[in-house]
Amino acid sequence: MSELLARHDATPPPAAAALPAADQDLFDAVTGAPGPRQRRAVAKAITLLESTRADHRLRADALLNTLLPATGQSFRLGLSGVPGVGKSTFIEAFGLYLIGLGHRVAVLTIDPSSSLSGGSILGDKTRMERLSMDERAYIRPSPSSGTLGGVAEKTREAMLVCEAAGFDVVIVETVGVGQSEVAVAGMADMFVLMQLPNAGDDLQAIKKGVMELADLVVINKADIDEAAATRARAQITSSLRLIGLHGKPERLRGRPDDASAASAGSESRARGGQLRQQHEAATWQPRVLQLSALKGSGLAEFWAAVGSFRALQAASGGLAARRHAQDQAWMWERIDAGLKQRFKAHPQVRSALPALSDEVRAGRVAASVAARRLLDLFH
Ligand code: GDP
Repeated sequence: MSELLARHDATPPPAAAALPAADQDLFDAVTGAPGPRQRRAVAKAITLLESTRADHRLRADALLNTLLPATGQSFRLGLSGVPGVGKSTFIEAFGLYLIGLGHRVAVLTIDPSSSLSGGSILGDKTRMERLSMDERAYIRPSPSSGTLGGVAEKTREAMLVCEAAGFDVVIVETVGVGQSEVAVAGMADMFVLMQLPNAGDDLQAIKKGVMELADLVVINKADIDEAAATRARAQITSSLRLIGLHGKPERLRGRPDDASAASAGSESRARGGQLRQQHEAATWQPRVLQLSALKGSGLAEFWAAVGSFRALQAASGGLAARRHAQDQAWMWERIDAGLKQRFKAHPQVRSALPALSDEVRAGRVAASVAARRLLDLFH
């Protein structure tokens, strides 16, 4: 399957010898033979990447860059759906199915509730027990703190570690709260939306604009009411057709949007146009499947649909284009977040900000003027 995927064509990072001895051992173990040593190393590497300590970040960056040439060989599957739709039941059944076919599967989670409320929608219960016990699978829960962007960044980096360790299918899961789905779609080769077999649900997804992200919609729990699942399939198929007629916003699919393309300059704008052309050449039409995660039925059809998607995307260059665009969008997203953080921490900005905010609130200074004055203080 890996022949379908182009390797990352990044410039070679600094030689592995640049790593301190302990991190060189970590690198060797991550990229070495599968087994308990590799599992421990993968966990350790991800923990290092998740650390907020400045010295850890330096080591993590060096490690990540050294691992980069070994990444990019997996298929990255994003999965979302409301709590209770059956995501973990599905991932467990599907993961075991893939292992049966000889694959190695990593499962990563983005739990937006940890950044919103400090609580957890996904992490509290024991999930995917059988899969987690299989040595050909690696399951990592969501980083437990940080902004959503920060949590997504850690997950994206964890994905690269898993790829370097040879996990050839990486599933990134999230719950349906809009922004986290955009984040997952922005790091996946294919984004799958899981739905319940009732009509109200797909309307929710349409309202939030999540349906537009989906390359594939699966209706789970088809075993409960086959007729309802079939009806839902027809309804969602026609909704997807409508979305297709109106066009999907490129921004949502990990392509540089106008804002980031503008900030990246004309080269990036040209690149955006090129990507759009390539995308149009790859005419994958989102599909709707029904399955039962509990009974394990429909898994082969699901995997076959993934295979068709991959073959089409690989042949058209769409897969590589999507990844390149995601990398660019990601870089700019992180730059935006980093700049904002530095801006707010800048001493002169910090001291001028409260007074200027008050002026804006009182209607004495226009918001745009206040923004320009603050930006002028930021050097
Ligand atoms: P998650 O919150 O999306 O991860 O959902 P879970 O996988 O935890 O599933 C929620 C509940 O739905 C559990 O009680 C599962 O056993 C049940 N469930 C999941 N998939 C199916 C299915 O295909 N059919 C039926 N009947 N129940 C299912």
